[in-house]
Amino acid sequence: MPVAPTHTTMNQFVSAGNQLLVGGMPISRLAEQVGQTPFYAYDRNLLRSRVAELRAALPENVKLHFAMKANPMPAVVGFMAGQVDGIDVASAGELKIALDAGANPSEISFAGPGKRNSELRQAVAAGVLINIESFREIDILADISHELELAARVAVRVNPDFELKGSGMKMGGGPKQFGVDAELVPELLERVGEKKLAFEGFHLFAGSQNLKPESICEAQQKSYDLALALSRHAPSPVRFLNLGGGFGIPYFPGEKRLDLAPIGDNLKQLSHRAKTDFPNASLVIELGRYLVGEAGIYVSRIVDRKISRGHTFLVVDGGLNHHLSASGNFGQVIRKNYPVTIGNHVNADQTEIASVVGPLCTPLDILADRMTLAVSVPGDLVVVFQSGAYGASASPQRFLGHPEVIEVLV
Ligand SMILES: *Cc1c(COP(=O)(O)O)cnc(C)c1O
Repeated sequence: MPVAPTHTTMNQFVSAGNQLLVGGMPISRLAEQVGQTPFYAYDRNLLRSRVAELRAALPENVKLHFAMKANPMPAVVGFMAGQVDGIDVASAGELKIALDAGANPSEISFAGPGKRNSELRQAVAAGVLINIESFREIDILADISHELELAARVAVRVNPDFELKGSGMKMGGGPKQFGVDAELVPELLERVGEKKLAFEGFHLFAGSQNLKPESICEAQQKSYDLALALSRHAPSPVRFLNLGGGFGIPYFPGEKRLDLAPIGDNLKQLSHRAKTDFPNASLVIELGRYLVGEAGIYVSRIVDRKISRGHTFLVVDGGLNHHLSASGNFGQVIRKNYPVTIGNHVNADQTEIASVVGPLCTPLDILADRMTLAVSVPGDLVVVFQSGAYGASASPQRFLGHPEVIEVLV
């Protein structure tokens, strides 16, 4: 029976004795406080220190936005709103959470390929920046601006003519549903001017989950150069230049944390160039997963321990219905294990090879496939690390009718 390779230690969480500590509390006690399993716990100290780490590595004048689709829990968005310079939303539902959280509307931007008329209207009324992704949106926004007597604030989301190399998920280059193809942008900008929308800048987002600094730097440079070329067609000076993000986190064996130093250097050069090319503009980067992913864990409890033909299965009370990504069914081509531990036996001497599976009637419901884990019994707590992004909100919670997962910020 092949055993899964091991991960880099998830050293952002420390332990005391056999207990993983979350927000300073032993995991067994935290489970009592929460009152039920499964749950997600997000550690606010880790959120804060991640932002501090980024600020230290990036030039001071680069603005840091949180793409809240990575974790829309209201308490997390509220906390992050106080840490970053702006929130990026992708629906009117997210816009509501961001506004409730106290985010400044002048620093909220709204992107997404199919914004409904009602969503555009809400965004204009709120005074947030709308990243235009089609010619249709211009005409609708012009009507809304006229009716509300409020100029729509817009940036143009460009579908670049290049890709983010080595990215988990590509969102630019080639034919895409996102943004407007770079070659059509001059014509679009003319229309923005004719319709008297308040043009404020460009938004480029090439891809996601990238662990190669050189690819991220290259995409940032190309995005900058493309925005510079397109800015010659702009109806007014650029005020925001959003160069995207794509910073990844390590999930799988062999992956290492992203080296921020070269990215910081690259952004320093770009922000230096921007002083002459875009004298009125702020450079923005927007990150989701990188800000929140490592600060979260998913905790489930072992319900049953079964041996099937020599293979040990730990059946827990949660699974793909709460954590689709960890099950390998959210965009992965080949299933690989997230880092997993038994949270109340983190320093156990006795280990075994076991698979952690959920209660759903589908073989896709796997949280760990043949990993080396502490020997454990029903009642023990299985922890999945790197679970702060694309967890609860990105999972089919109603599938098979189990209770919804609880989320806590500690
Ligand atoms: C999803 C998304 C993000 C966040 O991506 P991460 O990989 O979580 O950092 C940022 N910007 C846009 C436009 C997105 O669609």
